[in-house]
Amino acid sequence: MMPPVAPATRPDADPFDAGFLRGVVGGEVRLTPEQAMRLHDGLPLDELGRWADARCRVLHGDEIRTYVIDRNINYTNVCTAKCTFCAFRRDAQDHDAYTLAVDEILEKVRELVEIGGTQILMQGGMNPALPLAWYETLLEAISSRFPTVHIHAFSPPELIEFVEFFGPPGETLEDRLRWVLTRLQRAGLDSVPGGGGEIFAPAVRRKIGLGKCDAEAWLTVMRVAHELRMNTSATMMFGHIEGVADRIHHMALVRDRQDAAIADFGLSGGGRYMAFIAWPFQRENTPLGRVRDWGEQPGEEDAGAMFPGDAVARLDGTGDRAAHPGFGRRVRTVTGTAYLRTQAISRLFLDNIYSIGASWVTMGPHVGQAGLRYGASDMGSVMMEENVVSSAGTTFCLTEATICRLIRDAGFVPAQRDNSYRLLRLHDGADAPDLRLDDWSGVRGSRLHVQQADAARATAPVELSIRTTDSAPV
Ligand code: SF4
Repeated sequence: MMPPVAPATRPDADPFDAGFLRGVVGGEVRLTPEQAMRLHDGLPLDELGRWADARCRVLHGDEIRTYVIDRNINYTNVCTAKCTFCAFRRDAQDHDAYTLAVDEILEKVRELVEIGGTQILMQGGMNPALPLAWYETLLEAISSRFPTVHIHAFSPPELIEFVEFFGPPGETLEDRLRWVLTRLQRAGLDSVPGGGGEIFAPAVRRKIGLGKCDAEAWLTVMRVAHELRMNTSATMMFGHIEGVADRIHHMALVRDRQDAAIADFGLSGGGRYMAFIAWPFQRENTPLGRVRDWGEQPGEEDAGAMFPGDAVARLDGTGDRAAHPGFGRRVRTVTGTAYLRTQAISRLFLDNIYSIGASWVTMGPHVGQAGLRYGASDMGSVMMEENVVSSAGTTFCLTEATICRLIRDAGFVPAQRDNSYRLLRLHDGADAPDLRLDDWSGVRGSRLHVQQADAARATAPVELSIRTTDSAPV
């Protein structure tokens, strides 16, 4: 697990020096944002992967890599925000706006329990029509009927809107959040997912997250959750208008706040960020997706031409959109190698975060599998349902057997975990989901849109699909 005291930085050290990197791998020294940036831009990908893998092995050992079985329940798609990267939200009066009834949600949880699932990830749009009592009733119903199911729910932007909607007492935002979170926790909320992190830098966030809380509010929600001894996760959605420095700045804020959580609340029993998952923007059906790709116009990728996001981004988050007239007018989507590079940097930089999740919902299972050799220790969630990311295009769907095989073929023993990263089932015997399957001809990783999944479920036994924990953009 994590050391209680943050390692020192050595800002003057050459980040390419093998001795220095061995210190990073061993947790004796930490990267500065500048050093992380230099490694991102300058270290060959295979070397970066080897160092990130070595750091991962220090934290998680050489043998086991994990996944969780959960169900993503998007209880409403009505949302007051208008994020430009979102294809999921609806206005209340739209013909396909919905809010699930409590009984419908309970039925989904029952189906999850039936197949051995252990947690629900419940997030929605920010729906002003739902009062606090609705959430309390829902949480109490789930936790009393299914006491073994971990409820991982309500991302920071939703919780900030709850403060707006419910008008709780308190002098400060922290006071009001504490009041709301305490009520939800008493009703059954176990932990808070890191949705809505996107990119923290204000220039980017203001451009893509219309109506969504700023970074400080997002981080304040997590601070209060940690104080209440709830664990959380952190996410980053990248590969759009941001620069690489924005990604490092985002990670730096998470690392700083994690230092504070560990210092103030301790490692035994106190809340903190348990995982970091960086996932790439998926453009289909979104307003941001209509923005041109960087490189489409002649000359854009010539030597010397700088991506507008890089021209604006600053490692301290002070980037000014005025620094480049093209800022926000070009999107730089993520390739497999760019994804792995960012993930590897996150493993090396976030020395105080336990788990790095391989997010491959848009990149495909084999990039996710490769991610296990680039610093990721967890393949995310084998789950029954996904609505948010699939609204922005197609998502990959895999069976539990397939995810076990992906982990095993990457050189590790697969294990099912719970939300606290405790191992539930170690698949080291012949009865493992992948090893007891003789005929793989009917098992294909497929791109499956959620509407197709729903239609299939009406006539066929429940089939598990997989995507990465917390990748919903809410
Ligand atoms: S990403 Fe979340 S907060 Fe933003 S519009 Fe979509 S549902 Fe609403």
